[in-house]
Amino acid sequence: MTIDPWRITGQPEIDSYVGRWIELAVLLVNRLAVTTAHGRPATPPQSGDERHAAIIDRLAAAGRPPSTLTAADADRLAEVAVQLSPVFGAGDRILTAAAQLNELLVRHKAVPNLHGHPGRSPVLAFHQADASLVDAWAADMGTALAMVIGVGQSVRLGTCQAGKCSLVFFDTTRNASRRFCDLSCQNRAKASAYRARRRA
Ligand SMILES: [Zn+2]
Repeated sequence: MTIDPWRITGQPEIDSYVGRWIELAVLLVNRLAVTTAHGRPATPPQSGDERHAAIIDRLAAAGRPPSTLTAADADRLAEVAVQLSPVFGAGDRILTAAAQLNELLVRHKAVPNLHGHPGRSPVLAFHQADASLVDAWAADMGTALAMVIGVGQSVRLGTCQAGKCSLVFFDTTRNASRRFCDLSCQNRAKASAYRARRRA
């Protein structure tokens, strides 16, 4: 069996766990923290209710509606999203971003933990069974990001390279070559590079 060299652990169960939590981090950063998107200024939602609606909306679209998220949780998740955002596109600032991530992991009491369910084999998580929803999400997202950074793959935590767009993404391409959040930004960047060449 061949395993892509960038795969986090090579264990499909753990890699899919990491992937799922990084997708949630991407979703929260993009929805609650970025201030430019697709060439325009973006205003993140400002009130707990707006944040709550934004998160629920995106989670439902991603097929994972949360059962017990409150507006107060949404406010705290907005803070977490701002704190997680520096690990994306960190480049030379990776050590600073890693130190901030370490602090977040401590703050939200991240700990490797086996959660038991009757009749099933224990499930690995990175928060205590009695953690609040925000602590649990922050700990699991933070740990997943730390696992990617810790195997030398921080380049896969990307930010869009198109002008006036700071949307983030998890680059799962084979050679870590993704540069844009989506096709519209890729086309926009191509068009502006073409115009620049014409001028030159
Ligand atoms: Zn973009």
